Amino acid sequence: MNKYDVIQLSFPAYTMGKACKYCDKPIADHEHASRIFCPKIVLPDGSIQNCKDDYWAETRKNESDIYKIIALYQKKVSTILGYVYELNLPEITYETLDSMGIYLNRCLYSSAEADDMMSFFFVDFSITIHSKTNTIKIIKYDQELLKQELY
Ligand SMILES: [Zn+2]
Repeated sequence: MNKYDVIQLSFPAYTMGKACKYCDKPIADHEHASRIFCPKIVLPDGSIQNCKDDYWAETRKNESDIYKIIALYQKKVSTILGYVYELNLPEITYETLDSMGIYLNRCLYSSAEADDMMSFFFVDFSITIHSKTNTIKIIKYDQELLKQELY
C-alpha cells in the first residue's frame, strides 16, 4: 500500500453528488447505491441521529395535517350551510356560495340526480343545482345517509 491509498481511505470522496433526502448532507461515494439517508449515528450524549426515521416521521405528520385541514374545511362548511339554511333565503346564487367560502369542487361527493340537476354533498347538507332554472337549493339530510354513501 502506498501513501496515496492511505489518503484515499481517510477522506471519502463525494464526487457522485449524492445527498441525504432528509438533511441534504453529502453521502460518500463508497456508500451503497441504495443509501438515500445519512447513516444512523449515536451522538456523544447518547441520543441517536437517524435521518431516515426523522424523514418518515415528518412525512407522516404532514399527512395527518392534510386530513385535519380537510376535516376543518368540512366542519366550517357544515356550520355555514346550517346558518344559510336557517335564513331561508329566497334565492341563493353562486356568488352567495363563493362569498361564504363554499366551493362545490371541495364537496365529499357529487351525483347527477337528473339531466339538469346535480347535487354536491357536504356533511349534514347538500347543495342541489338545477341548471335549467339556475336555482340553487340547500337541503338538510341525515349523516347516516352520508355514511352509507361513503362506505
Ligand atoms: Zn441526513
